[in-house]
Amino acid sequence: MSKQTSPSVPEKPDLLDAPLERIVGSRSAKKLASLGLETGRDLLFFFPRRYAHWGKLTPLISVFEGEDVTLLAQVVSADLIRNRTRGVRLSVELTDGVGTINATFFARHPGALSVHQRLLTPGSQHLFAGKISYYRGRPQLTHPDFERFDSDDPQARVERPIPIYPATAKCPSWLTERSAKIIVGMVQDQDISDPLDQNVRESHALVPLIEALRQLHDPQSDEQVATAKKTVKWAEALVLQAGLLQRRAATDEDAAHVIEPGSQMEQARAGLPFELTGGQDQALQEILADMQKPHPMQRLLQADVGAGKTVIAGLAMTAAVDAGYQAALLAPTEVLAQQHAASLARMLPVPVELLTGSSKTGRRQSVSELAATGQAAVFVGTHALIQDSLQFSNLGLVVVDEQHRFGVAQREKLREDREIVPHMLTMTATPIPRTIAMTVFGDLDVTSIRELPKGRIPVDTFLVNSANPAWVNRMWERAREEIDSGGRVFVVAPRIDSTEGEDSELSNVEDTLQMLTQLPALHGINIASLHGRMNPEQKAQIIQGFNQGETPLLVTTTVIEVGVDIQAASMMVILDSQQFGLSQLHQLRGRVGRGGQKAICMAVHRDGLPADSMKRLEAFASIRDGFELAEADLKLRHEGNVLGGAQSGGKTSLKALRVMRDSAIIEGARQHASVLVNEDPTLKKYPHLRAAIAQLDEETEWMERS
Ligand code: ADP
Ligand code: MG
Repeated sequence: MSKQTSPSVPEKPDLLDAPLERIVGSRSAKKLASLGLETGRDLLFFFPRRYAHWGKLTPLISVFEGEDVTLLAQVVSADLIRNRTRGVRLSVELTDGVGTINATFFARHPGALSVHQRLLTPGSQHLFAGKISYYRGRPQLTHPDFERFDSDDPQARVERPIPIYPATAKCPSWLTERSAKIIVGMVQDQDISDPLDQNVRESHALVPLIEALRQLHDPQSDEQVATAKKTVKWAEALVLQAGLLQRRAATDEDAAHVIEPGSQMEQARAGLPFELTGGQDQALQEILADMQKPHPMQRLLQADVGAGKTVIAGLAMTAAVDAGYQAALLAPTEVLAQQHAASLARMLPVPVELLTGSSKTGRRQSVSELAATGQAAVFVGTHALIQDSLQFSNLGLVVVDEQHRFGVAQREKLREDREIVPHMLTMTATPIPRTIAMTVFGDLDVTSIRELPKGRIPVDTFLVNSANPAWVNRMWERAREEIDSGGRVFVVAPRIDSTEGEDSELSNVEDTLQMLTQLPALHGINIASLHGRMNPEQKAQIIQGFNQGETPLLVTTTVIEVGVDIQAASMMVILDSQQFGLSQLHQLRGRVGRGGQKAICMAVHRDGLPADSMKRLEAFASIRDGFELAEADLKLRHEGNVLGGAQSGGKTSLKALRVMRDSAIIEGARQHASVLVNEDPTLKKYPHLRAAIAQLDEETEWMERS
């Protein structure tokens, strides 16, 4: 979307773009910078994490070690104690009415603590900020900052929620609060593009955005906070959804080749050694229907690992080539590009051209020529390679495999300078819950395959504590048994060698290879290793050796994480599995059992893991369905990371919305946005919404550049 201006919307609202230094002074600005806040806008849209109440004190019992806290508490006692060695300390007992905590101040001489003593009198209430440490089993604050909590108007005070901001050691909550109040006092209607129209405001009981911002930073009551929160969430969701839908509407206007499925596709389908599953067939029909339209398909195909996406892509590409157009398959790695090219060449009755970074110059030239002259064929390569070095003159379909990073910006690039835009299919094996898909891939139609090919047996997953030698031994014996009965075993380690990364205790490929070569249980078995520092030819060779059984045990990094399809692989060992995310673990597990045999996955983990890491691994072991696992993942993870992970493309993280908790708002905003964009695609009747979208675009681009 291009940035648009309109008379009623100022192009650059000065206050919001001003550096904080000019708004709150350089001392405060420096501290706020530790929270990542730099401009007026940053501060205005930096929301309190929660609100404390004068009447209902903050629960002290919920603090944990190492946490930077801001607590509202009452002094129970304050005792000046002489230290045994030297100096004195003021030991202050604090309570919130339920829990207690100790705050201690050290000094050489009692005189240095006289101010503290004068202020911290029993019964007085203060905000305390500091880092929680534990001393003799009790939480404590050492030298916390504190500020008296005075009550000007006792009644109002009781009702008024106190904003508590996320804090750093440098920037306690009240400093942010004070600064936010300064900007709230300065901000005026024209500084803000309020994207919410009268309609949506009325039907969802929202307030004007500027009011909501004031109330979040300086609220009079809990009710105000609730309405204000809802308002900023709606504003954020509406801008995002309207932006995505507007983009979608624009691309729906683009011209694309109309591709009718012909006989070659039927031939390819009939030649498959299996029947498509119902889910595959349905997906293929949706894709073919899209390709028959004169506007570019924009579809996301999500399916669990092993559901069989490649064949769908292959058939769609055959239809394109049969109709006289070029098709491109963009893979995330060279290994995958090679694998895809090989299996597609076997499967499809149309020419398949592979281009990788290691292709010889002559080959490169001939493939470039084929691309440039419009030769109808399937072109396979890594996405960087195909996008940057091939000039297609006749591109009908682009398939992007396993590529989360293939975001809005990359899709835009494929549209650029083309009169006829290719149909576009994005495939992912990491299922994305609906509201996230709506937020991240909100400009795409979504097809989900929930079904695995018949006869697939779920991979049994076991957790193995690395401190239990009996289990670890048994695991390697099992590896030998798998290999003896014709299987292949992957052993995945998080590092390549001991020099990599800070945590040298983590398993690495080099040492594991050494260790396994000497292990009696694996005596006589050829072991290979694979990692990202090898060149593509080496990698291809090693994978081939593994596939053919010359080296039936492969020690590797996560380079095999996505897509690699070795039918005979029946066992996956993941070392230091606590290091990996749930979707990554699921991807790894998806590398085995692909030939319909029974397969197992052993997730080896460190002893004494924190409870949340253990929970994650337990979820991995007990949930086999990728869609369910994605949901569980969301519940276990901090929401903030969710988008970060799924988006990766570099969108700004959401400020107020929480994708899971706020799914109703996101859905509602989607609906409202689609009404607005349908009746008024350029949103000229909604200049503020349009300006807010332009602002979001600007922030997004900025993020992508950094
Ligand atoms: P993914 O969706 O993870 O990319 P693949 O496309 O790599 O899955 O397919 C996994 C394996 O399943 C491949 O070996 C493929 O040949 C096989 N396969 C695909 N569809 C079917 C089917 N309908 N029946 C049996 N096997 C299938
Ligand atoms: Mg795949």
